[in-house]
Amino acid sequence: MRPSTIGIVGAGQLGRMLALAGYPLGLRCLFLDRSPDAPGAQVAPILLGELQDAGRLAELASKSDVITFDWENVPSTVLAPLEKLTAIRPSPRALEVSQDRLHEKALFASLRIPVAAHATVDSKDDLLRAAREIGLPGVLKTRRLGYDGKGQFVIRHAEHIDAAWASIGGTGLIYEKFQVFSREVSLVGARSAAGKIVYYPLSANTHSGGVLRYSIAPYVNVALERAARRYLRKVMEALAYVGVLAIEFFIVKGKLVANEMAPRVHNSGHWTIDGCVTSQFENHLRAICDLPLGDTRALGHTVMVNFLGLMPDRERLLGIDGLAFHDYGKEPRPGRKLGHCTVVRSSPAARNLALAQTLKLIEWS
Ligand code: AMP
Repeated sequence: MRPSTIGIVGAGQLGRMLALAGYPLGLRCLFLDRSPDAPGAQVAPILLGELQDAGRLAELASKSDVITFDWENVPSTVLAPLEKLTAIRPSPRALEVSQDRLHEKALFASLRIPVAAHATVDSKDDLLRAAREIGLPGVLKTRRLGYDGKGQFVIRHAEHIDAAWASIGGTGLIYEKFQVFSREVSLVGARSAAGKIVYYPLSANTHSGGVLRYSIAPYVNVALERAARRYLRKVMEALAYVGVLAIEFFIVKGKLVANEMAPRVHNSGHWTIDGCVTSQFENHLRAICDLPLGDTRALGHTVMVNFLGLMPDRERLLGIDGLAFHDYGKEPRPGRKLGHCTVVRSSPAARNLALAQTLKLIEWS
């Protein structure tokens, strides 16, 4: 029997866009989230509860044909018993690796995927040693639960070490060599349980303060795309992965250095809703429901711009020809991802013009 109810752990914007992609396929989503106003809860039913609550997760599993994730940080010890109740895709093992930056880097390195020089830090002495051995500048990060630049401190000079330690010091950290990159790119792909893989075009991502501002795609570079696909495939195969997986890379001296992976749909893949034949959300659902994977071809040259902290003037933005507007239904708060917009054009030059027009109407806070 094909799955018809998808249990989604977390009802953020990723879950919301998954649920919206599910309706045309006849798939219904059921969320678990602590907030009745969460973005996903506005478009599909929800069980209220903590995302790590074993009892609530078991209830979600008993009501779902397959469980998947908007939020990947549920401990694998909590997830493992659920495997007796229903399918969990991606697997607890894939989540476990991506929950810890050190384990993620170890997996990349074991697959000969280049990563930044790094060391674990559990004390200030460890940090002093790492800064000496790996060198400055570097980035001190929490190994777990960091996202969008949270739990990170860039150490440019030795005098910054005390401030870094005062800010996020403790155990469970990683120190990475700072990467002087020309660009940040990401690759999103989907793998079915039978092992078929589809890849989206590379996307070039512009961050500020650790948060994605906008992406342009396709980012055309045949050699880098080939390498990125090879790396994504290696990771997917090593984890017997099912669903959408994203890997973020730095381009350093013309080569890819893997930064991190996300075992779920990814912000740098939001452009695929309007810019590709089949979106990342639909392909994630197809993969976890054993449906044939959809065509990942780009429809043109796309820009996706995030709305952060403040919602822009909808009327003025919709005045841009062909612009697609996505409101996640969240209360504005500084730095919060509230929505995004997408414009697809027929040439890179026209896309760049649309990016400039769009940025004039968007204020980030
Ligand atoms: P992350 O949470 O690891 O994705 O980091 C958020 C952003 O911080 C990245 O997209 C980069 O812009 C920046 N960043 C993180 N790690 C490094 C690094 N080792 N070198 C340079 N920039 C970094």
